[in-house]
Amino acid sequence: MTPQHSDILVIGAGPAGLHAAFYAAWRGLSVRVLEARAEAGGQLGALYPDKRVYDVPGLPGARAAEVIQHLLRQLDGLDTEVRVNTVARSLKRAGSGWRVGTDQGSFTAGAVILAAGLGALLPRAARVPGVDSHPDVRTDLPDPAGLGGRRVLIVGGVPQAARAALDLLEAGATVTLTHSRALFRGDPASLARLETARAAGQLEVLAPARLLGLTPHGAQLEVNSERRTAGADTVLILGGYLPDLSPVQAWPLDWRGEYVPDGPGGCTALDGVWAVGDVAQSGGEFKLISLAFAQAAVAANHAAHHVQPELRVRPGHSSEKR
Ligand SMILES: Cc1cc2nc3c(=O)[nH]c(=O)nc-3n(C[C@H](O)[C@H](O)[C@H](O)COP(=O)(O)OP(=O)(O)OC[C@H]3O[C@@H](n4cnc5c(N)ncnc54)[C@H](O)[C@@H]3O)c2cc1C
Repeated sequence: MTPQHSDILVIGAGPAGLHAAFYAAWRGLSVRVLEARAEAGGQLGALYPDKRVYDVPGLPGARAAEVIQHLLRQLDGLDTEVRVNTVARSLKRAGSGWRVGTDQGSFTAGAVILAAGLGALLPRAARVPGVDSHPDVRTDLPDPAGLGGRRVLIVGGVPQAARAALDLLEAGATVTLTHSRALFRGDPASLARLETARAAGQLEVLAPARLLGLTPHGAQLEVNSERRTAGADTVLILGGYLPDLSPVQAWPLDWRGEYVPDGPGGCTALDGVWAVGDVAQSGGEFKLISLAFAQAAVAANHAAHHVQPELRVRPGHSSEKR
């Protein structure tokens, strides 16, 4: 893989995209995965990381975030790159392959596997009075290392808010966590660590509280009917994620609403472009992780054969390989 070229480009690092990446890379190809969010995981990472999933084969009752960790671990040692914060926007022919344009430059590949799910999971915009007055307001998970030593106000009750609070404490930030309700979402271990940090005075929790607005130096809150000022160098407003398919819906894939018609093996109207997971029309109402895995395995092997015709489509059994 070079900085611009890989054998295969996968759009989306949800379960479909990660499993497709594994399969193509395991066949010996280089695979780059473009992911709009700040981290891999698709809906599992963005919308329900704390929930248990009971119908993923081989991982009964695992939390969604754990399912993703396993998928990422399966890429270890293979020629793969997951590029986060990268929204795929354009698709153009490049020789016998394709060029995908993003905000971070363009990438070429012999084949493209579209695993865009419900769409790019982009953070909800921060709609708070005075949001433009504060110099450092963010709406997605930051790199904690970059915020060590700073006063960070985290607003939100989503699992990402609890996780950000713990990561930032560990990075040496002074953290205040606030939410309109008293309850925070997160896996029990994280919530227990939050409570321990709060009880030890390492973390300030203001909840339930109403965020009245931001100021150049922090925020005004209403807690227990009293006005409070919270100083903050950085404000993280974590309000969850909304899917946006529009970046790829201009691609000439014969879209049917939010679905791409897919033929045998996930092939699409474009030669060398496959569709898998929730975005593939053949799954219909079956928006399931297990189906995404199956589609990804089949499409990735077809794509591998397309890029390297000397590779047979059928992968053989992994148990027979070293
Ligand atoms: C609350 C909830 C609970 C669920 N529970 C279950 C369950 O128990 N069992 C089950 O089987 N299924 C469950 N599902 C459904 C399951 O999550 C989906 O079927 C699965 O995530 C589909 O995987 P995917 O990889 O196709 O898409 P997604 O998980 O949506 O991943 C697509 C990824 O592509 C990225 N992307 C999209 N467009 C672009 C672009 N232009 N550029 C770059 N990146 C892009 C997105 O940001 C996202 O990360 C649940 C869904 C929800 C919402």
